[in-house]
Amino acid sequence: MFSDIKIAPPIEVFSLTAKFNEDNRPIKVNLGVGAYRTNEDKPWVLPVVRTVEAQMACDTTLNHEYLPVGGLPEFSYNAMKLLLGDDNPVFTENRVLGTQALGGTWGLKLAAEFMHRHLGVDVVYVSKPTWGNHKGIFKDAGFSQIKEYRYWKADTRSLDIDGMLEDLKNAPERACVILHGCAHNPTGVDPTNEQWKMIADVCEERNLTIVMDIAYQGFATGKLDEDAAAVRYMQSRGFEMFIAQSFSKNFGLYNERVGNLVTVTKSNDAVLKVKSQMDLIVRTMWSNPPNHGARIVCSVLNNPGYLSEWKEQVKMMAERIRMMRHQLRQKLISLGTPGSWEHINTQRGMFSYTGLTEAQVDVLQSRYHIYMLKSGRINMCGLTSNNIDYVADAIHAVVSG
Ligand code: PMP
Repeated sequence: MFSDIKIAPPIEVFSLTAKFNEDNRPIKVNLGVGAYRTNEDKPWVLPVVRTVEAQMACDTTLNHEYLPVGGLPEFSYNAMKLLLGDDNPVFTENRVLGTQALGGTWGLKLAAEFMHRHLGVDVVYVSKPTWGNHKGIFKDAGFSQIKEYRYWKADTRSLDIDGMLEDLKNAPERACVILHGCAHNPTGVDPTNEQWKMIADVCEERNLTIVMDIAYQGFATGKLDEDAAAVRYMQSRGFEMFIAQSFSKNFGLYNERVGNLVTVTKSNDAVLKVKSQMDLIVRTMWSNPPNHGARIVCSVLNNPGYLSEWKEQVKMMAERIRMMRHQLRQKLISLGTPGSWEHINTQRGMFSYTGLTEAQVDVLQSRYHIYMLKSGRINMCGLTSNNIDYVADAIHAVVSG
């Protein structure tokens, strides 16, 4: 039965880590992984998460009953307040729905399934480049066309806003567009406020179906509200839209799969209808979501003391990343590495699109045992005060030819 099955192509980010783990050189650096690392190059369990987990372990009022199909209501509610702001009128007007999902990935999947089954949308536009999973998620949900809008301008190492607007203007009416809420993966380049206005204008003109993907709230500026500004702006323009929220990065809860799909509608009546259909989609996919991670997030967001602890911890992660950006750029400049490295400093979030070519990436891996995605994307958290000189020297050698 299985003998004719073809081997699937490897998933780049995971096969890179496997290669890194097999590499037995004493000096090696993994800049490929998509998770936060401390300055000791270790995963970090946020102290506030540890505190809440310890409490949960002793709390005899908790049990392992199924959660509702749509998830823990107080989790979704607090998650949405974090995203849209406490005093957002959508809450008093009861025209927003939160559906707990398995990480940001399944929030996107839920949105895609919903659009495909109920809104008749089957063309999606993703940024070029985008997170490696966007295309696959929408393809699997039955979208017939996966299109790209221009985003990264290689020569200026910045946003190709003219290209982006032109491509979106040419999109068919009601096509879905995925917009990264902040800290764009993989480029680290976000639109400015003025550019968001232009993007919103085109979405309105073309009546596009907006999905905002926000997997890094807090990682761009270190401030939760500031990082939600683009999402809040788009929502304030009056669009009905989806927003896929992930708590994998900002809570360090990667393997707990904590996400929330936010659906903003124009009326409470629409919320009730959407909820009934959303629940049916969830029912056949995972039936009921897991409890542990959502309960941690909810307990933190719900408690002013824990909330301010968490905000400090998010800020610490963002600051470490910013420091690594700054230091890498400084080192490349002081080495006299050809080219401008300002983009490393101005890009935001966990990733930097270095502009290194595939050939340079190959040499960095084979000669220096520095691992990164073929596109030249690096995870800034893979840099530490121990390895940053080694990495800067290697980049210098490779770029200088
Ligand atoms: N969107 C983007 C842009 C991401 O980078 C990621 C995670 N790498 C996700 C969504 C999915 O997040 P999660 O791990 O919570 O499913």
